[in-house]
Amino acid sequence: MLVVWKHPENASAQFPNVQLISSLGAGVEHIIKDPAITSKHLISRIVDPTLAHSMQKHVLTCVLHFHKQWPFYQVAKQNGQWAKPNPIERPIKVGILGVGALGQAVTKILQTVGFEVIGFSRKPKEIPNFTVWDSENHSLPSFLQEINVLLSLLPRTPQTEGILSYELLRNLPKGSCLINVGRGAHLVEDDLLKLLEEGTIDQAYLDVFQEEPLPTSHPFWSHSHIFITPHTASITHQENAAKIIADNYQRLKTGGPIRFEVQLDRGY
Ligand code: NDP
Repeated sequence: MLVVWKHPENASAQFPNVQLISSLGAGVEHIIKDPAITSKHLISRIVDPTLAHSMQKHVLTCVLHFHKQWPFYQVAKQNGQWAKPNPIERPIKVGILGVGALGQAVTKILQTVGFEVIGFSRKPKEIPNFTVWDSENHSLPSFLQEINVLLSLLPRTPQTEGILSYELLRNLPKGSCLINVGRGAHLVEDDLLKLLEEGTIDQAYLDVFQEEPLPTSHPFWSHSHIFITPHTASITHQENAAKIIADNYQRLKTGGPIRFEVQLDRGY
């Protein structure tokens, strides 16, 4: 068994007896892109309630910040103004792109606080009290037309790279909010600048970037309508991850089914 995180490509080729490759985190793109890892290998990842709880808190913070007009107060304070936004609370409907382990956890917390949430996945799925659109029966542009807060919690695959483009995001209503906590490769960064300038997007909360760390010269740093966190939305809890990895090792040895298995052909 190998346990990896962003390992050098082909490094796994040195270990011909390896049967199971585990990611140290929720994402697995570093494993999928390694040509030495093939369909003869089992692949697993970390799915952990602590990771999900952390993501719930991050996303809730972003949604409330936008909903309660905190960017408005930030500007008012800079200008020394006792000013009230109109409306005091922005009406919002959240669309979650990617309703897997994390997307579903985030949905629960947003619904508990009273927000309307709809989801979009690749395959159809039935989840009680949660409307999920899917790419087989619905179009993503129509999904965006329904919402004004878009949360991306997609995995990185060839199909999702560059998915958050001008062509797609221009379907959001004017004054929308974008929260990207999936992967930086999903967002066409220059397109976001254009959408902010046009007013289609009013606030963006970005945790992941095309290049990390975000280069110091990057225009996002100085943009007043972009909030930046340095890929800290949710990080692997070491003790829990160790338990999941050890458990999967035991399962491998005893021939039991591996937990949190990843499908190589699907890419997540
Ligand atoms: P899952 O694999 O459980 O869920 C992925 C979801 O994305 C599924 O609902 C899947 O659809 C959907 N999906 C995949 N491809 C497409 C597509 N082309 N179009 C529409 N929907 C698609 O992943 P997790 O929820 O555990 O994690 C999601 C991602 O979050 C990770 O891959 C990682 O990139 C990111 N992450 C970010 C962190 C951070 O700190 N910023 C921390 C942890 C993870 P279906 O259900 O039909 O298969």
